[in-house]
Amino acid sequence: MGGKQARSSPILIWQGTDSHVVIPSYTPCLRCAPGLEKYEMVFGECLTFIRQKTRALLILVFLHSFMINREYLCSNHPFATPQTIESIAHSSLAEMRFEGSISFENLEFAARDFGNRYHLMPSAVLHPKSVSDISSILRYVYDLGLSSELKVAARGHGHSLEGQAQAYRGVVISMESLRAPEMSFHCGEHPYVDVSAGELWINILHESLKRGLTPRSWTDYLRLTVGGTLSNAGISGQAFRHGPQINNVYQLQVVTGRGEVVTCSDEQNTDLFHAVLGGLGQFGIITQARIALEPAPKMVKWIRALYSDFSTFARDQEHLISSNNSFDYVEGFIIINRTGLLNNWRSSFSPKDPIRADQFNSDGKLLFCLEVAKYYNPRESDNIDQDIDPLLSELSYIRSTLYMSEVSYVNFLDRVHVSEVKLREEGLWEVPHPWLNLLVPRSRIHEFVAEVFGNIVKDTSGGPILIYPVNKARWKSGTSLITPDDDVFYLIAFLSSAMPSSAGKDGLEHILSQNKKILSFSQRPYLGIKQYLPHYSTEEEWEAHFGPHWEVFYRRKLSYDPLAILAPGQRIFRRGIAYALQ
Ligand code: FAD
Repeated sequence: MGGKQARSSPILIWQGTDSHVVIPSYTPCLRCAPGLEKYEMVFGECLTFIRQKTRALLILVFLHSFMINREYLCSNHPFATPQTIESIAHSSLAEMRFEGSISFENLEFAARDFGNRYHLMPSAVLHPKSVSDISSILRYVYDLGLSSELKVAARGHGHSLEGQAQAYRGVVISMESLRAPEMSFHCGEHPYVDVSAGELWINILHESLKRGLTPRSWTDYLRLTVGGTLSNAGISGQAFRHGPQINNVYQLQVVTGRGEVVTCSDEQNTDLFHAVLGGLGQFGIITQARIALEPAPKMVKWIRALYSDFSTFARDQEHLISSNNSFDYVEGFIIINRTGLLNNWRSSFSPKDPIRADQFNSDGKLLFCLEVAKYYNPRESDNIDQDIDPLLSELSYIRSTLYMSEVSYVNFLDRVHVSEVKLREEGLWEVPHPWLNLLVPRSRIHEFVAEVFGNIVKDTSGGPILIYPVNKARWKSGTSLITPDDDVFYLIAFLSSAMPSSAGKDGLEHILSQNKKILSFSQRPYLGIKQYLPHYSTEEEWEAHFGPHWEVFYRRKLSYDPLAILAPGQRIFRRGIAYALQ
């Protein structure tokens, strides 16, 4: 069953089109938003059409439901209009009893995210205290059936970039309220911790360290929830060895779009397990996760070195991720158009050779900075340099540009928080973040770098640009995450912050137009580049993103969220679309 059939279904006239209600934040109000005219026109036409054809449509919907899925006949309101259904739904929600609470006021926080460009106001926010709160609300919305447009979005820490955790006129479930039961640790040969999906990774780190343990795979920033990163992948400098975070989960508890509570793993309900990992919140709400742990180190040797030639840089990075004896963390970033080494990181790193380092001048050339880390414990500190020196001696960085730092394991993992604190003080954390993350196959990386850094991106004033390779062989197959076909691919992350009201190179318009150029090049099919934290506006683009995996993704949607209730902010399916085709 494909998306093309879906688009032609007459039932869809009833469904809201999310793509029309995406309001970029820099527009002053909802009514002035670009695209709204189109929305009003389309919606206006629908209303006229509906008024004229109400009876016929209702009969059609009713017959369709009868023929297709008798469960729908259980809906309490089969003959009401969508507007009445919504108001009945909302008053019923207000009457429902939860262990937590549901609120209908002060919802602005749920219409915001880190990207700070999309603001979709929900009708209600559920603050769940138990899994049964979540299953009750999903069961209720599911029972409303095809005649309701009510949607539900789980919100982790709201650090999405383009409204992915928002639900226009829907219900947002604030997962951070779900902190029960307490984290439960299991030591032994294969240690793990059971956590609530609303838990922040930083809290898991602190609790694990009390037991001498740690999760293996991370993101660069730890104020993100387990459910939020597992719905994407969770990629950082450990992923070359351990795979992304979705590889390091033994078991999940999930509430599906039908309101069923299901435990899943590689052995049990495997299809749902794989669907949910990297599943963009489409198949169920993760309520608990069993995270793999390993013994924790105490210290980290953190190293940076510069390259002026991309081929050498890439060769060394690929060498490091393929060696058995290597660093514990491998990343890198790009420095454009800087004279000398005008990077604030120099203050916290010491040059190996201070005299020669001071003489180095980049003359504004494009530079590539390798970033690696080796974990160790204090009792190994006398020998750590002997472990690291042979690894470094195999690399071809500019010899005068080797910088080192020694930090605690916690401070290394929580490094981005230091910048967060500074940026918050300066009022620069809550600015728009037009980020763009791409996964580029190794076979195309040189072409990509030549085009993008030769012709499109001329400076890095907007924010860091990360670039590092990972091994696909270490990544779990069968999940919903889409990656390039090559065995090795690069994560390239353009992490821009837009300065409010700037019309210059650090302004939103400039960065968005640059992203558009990068995307327009990257979307050439022969390149096989995929977006990470993907964002698309049309079903055709989603189908192209998933490629041959679209059928599986679509089938899983039909199985686990047939009314397309969940995670509407991803804009993949329209409410009721999958159900209508069952
Ligand atoms: P949200 O933004 O709240 O949700 C994300 C999506 O998941 C939404 O669609 C939501 O509906 C869904 N969702 C949330 N919780 C659940 C749940 N329990 N069950 C089912 N669906 C759910 N990513 C990386 O991979 N590597 C990085 O190094 C990295 N660094 C980052 C640094 C910063 C400063 C920021 C802001 C983001 C970074 N990210 C990184 C991206 C991050 O992983 C995603 O933005 C992630 O979605 C944010 O998690 P969250 O908990 O805020 O989720």
